[in-house]
Amino acid sequence: MESFFSEGEDSFETCLGSPVLRQHEKLWLKDGNVVLMVNKDMLFKVHRSILSVHSAVFKDMFAMPQPAYPDEEDMYDGCPLVRLSDAPEDMGIFLDIFYNGIPYLQSRTEATWTIVRVLLLLGSKYAADRLYDEGVRQLERRYPPTIRALHAVQPGKECMDFKFEDCISIANVTRTLRLDRFYYNALYDCCQLDTKDLLSGVERSPGVYEMLDEEDLIRCVDGRGRLQRVYFAMMGDAFKATPDNRDESRLCGRLIDLFRSEKIETSVPNDYTGKYDPLRVHVSNKWFQTGCKRLCGRCAAFYVQRDEARMQEVLDNLKEYFDLEEPNTDYAVRRLFGVESPFMLVPRSGLV
Ligand SMILES: [Zn+2]
Repeated sequence: MESFFSEGEDSFETCLGSPVLRQHEKLWLKDGNVVLMVNKDMLFKVHRSILSVHSAVFKDMFAMPQPAYPDEEDMYDGCPLVRLSDAPEDMGIFLDIFYNGIPYLQSRTEATWTIVRVLLLLGSKYAADRLYDEGVRQLERRYPPTIRALHAVQPGKECMDFKFEDCISIANVTRTLRLDRFYYNALYDCCQLDTKDLLSGVERSPGVYEMLDEEDLIRCVDGRGRLQRVYFAMMGDAFKATPDNRDESRLCGRLIDLFRSEKIETSVPNDYTGKYDPLRVHVSNKWFQTGCKRLCGRCAAFYVQRDEARMQEVLDNLKEYFDLEEPNTDYAVRRLFGVESPFMLVPRSGLV
């Protein structure tokens, strides 16, 4: 790996010539012994020992023998200067967690995607394993593997407080990091976005829009078609099977026949937007719920369980809806943060 000390192409002189070098408000620690210059203008004065405890990359960097008489341009405020190319806001969060620990997450009422994103991306880049693992744990809470747990997720309560629109950024990050299961979940959520948000991207931080790249957009647009087909198929045969040990003396048989004869089209409101969402087909749909309520407990339980099993099957096979038989082949060979970064960050003015 290229030395971090020479990251970026501009010389230090150019940096000095740039308008302002800013010291980070909180993380300029007077007794620090290393200065990080992030994105050419933001300065953090921190401790080598603290960085080394959390990050194997920093640990290796500081273990390298230092020149007895370093060049002036490699020093700042009497400390070695390390140049990094991350976003200053991200590095601020990352270092704050170094100093305040994982409880940093719990001390807030909830972890937002802004923080979890940093745990994952910088945790991976700087080999800060405990932080990275915490990021994955937060994703597991957001996207549990069982349909029942998924339906019970309440963002901001037991999992990170995440805005639905974050799914674009989650898809980009989890694709890059090859966190495949979460990537499929996030793509699925992207399919539920308004078409405008799906195509134009959403604002992740002020003035910065995050978009899916063209490959993922195609996956989502095609995926919507597949999801819609399975959605209507599930609606259509919701009452097709017959409970095994049905009580013949009850009205259930006649009711079930009636439900089967109903046209699906009339049971889905025109403006119902959940039609790409087979994972919640009957949870969000009153038609099925009302029908079940009219049946006896045993029959209702049969249909609810059957429905749940089918939603679970969709969840277990999300990959298939996005034509991802061999996912991530392109990205497998790309460096995480190389020139071919899959992130499409578009400044506001870039959107016409
Ligand atoms: Zn019954």
